Formats: sequence, structure tokens, C-alpha cells
Amino acid sequence: MASSSLQPPPASGATSAAQTTIAAHGRVTRTRVAVLECLLASHQPLNHDQIAADLAASGEHHDRVTVYRALDWLVDRGIATRVPGKDRAWKFEAVRHDGHRHAHFHCDACGRVLCLETIEPAIAVALPAGYRLDQAELVLHGACPACNDGRAAR
Ligand SMILES: [Zn+2]
Ligand SMILES: [Zn+2]
Repeated sequence: MASSSLQPPPASGATSAAQTTIAAHGRVTRTRVAVLECLLASHQPLNHDQIAADLAASGEHHDRVTVYRALDWLVDRGIATRVPGKDRAWKFEAVRHDGHRHAHFHCDACGRVLCLETIEPAIAVALPAGYRLDQAELVLHGACPACNDGRAAR
């Protein structure tokens, strides 16, 4: 039953992992695929501007509103998730297939949101009987290693 390393390698061919995932949930559009590929490639949650910049860097034009809609669609389908960022601006990241959840660290000094892959919110385990958990967010606030170092050096 232990299905280890089921993740397919990043495909650059005809059908990417992003395309397959989207096709399983609905209509495949260019922007949905591009946005999901961008999230899958990132090791940190990205805000809308970062995603738009990434897409622009790939040389393809994606309408701003279309990118917003694609993000909403991905979140609605449970393919991506929202992470609270600075100033109520959401950040987005791809949901892992293995149901892995992890905590996020919000640096109040530089505003970055970092994934703490090794810290798993234990909320799901502590939930009383009868509840079904769809989403859990654990966001820690403080200073990231880079900012904390700078402070200590002063
Ligand atoms: Zn920082
Ligand atoms: Zn994360």
C-alpha cells in the first residue's frame, strides 16, 4: 500500500503534470496550465504579481484578470491553496498529491512567506470526531533566518 515516489518527472513533452491535473478537474486552458506550472516549479508560495512576472518571463502574454480567474479556479478545485501573505494579499501554492500539509512562516521584516516543510500542523489529528477537515492553515510570524542574522550582526 505504500506508494512511494509516485511523482512523475517534470515533463516538457506533450502532456505535462499540470495539464494532466487540470484535465482531471475540468477544461484545460493555456493560462490554467501556465499558472499551475509556475506554482509547481516554485518552492515558495507566490503572490499574484510574482506569478504574473513569471508568466511574462516565459514570453507568453496572460491577461491579468485571466490569471486571477485561473488561480481562483485552481483553488476551487483543490489543486492550489491560498496562503495568507502580507497586507491581506494572498499567496498561492500547489497542493501536493500526497496530502502533505505544512506550516508557513511569515517574516514580518522582509514580508516573505516561507514553507516550513518539516512542520506539519497537528490540527487534523486533534479534530474531534464528526468533523471533516478540508483545509488547515498554520502561519507563524517572526523573522526569517536572513533577517534575523542581519539583526544579530548589528
Ligand atoms: Zn525576512
Ligand atoms: Zn508552503
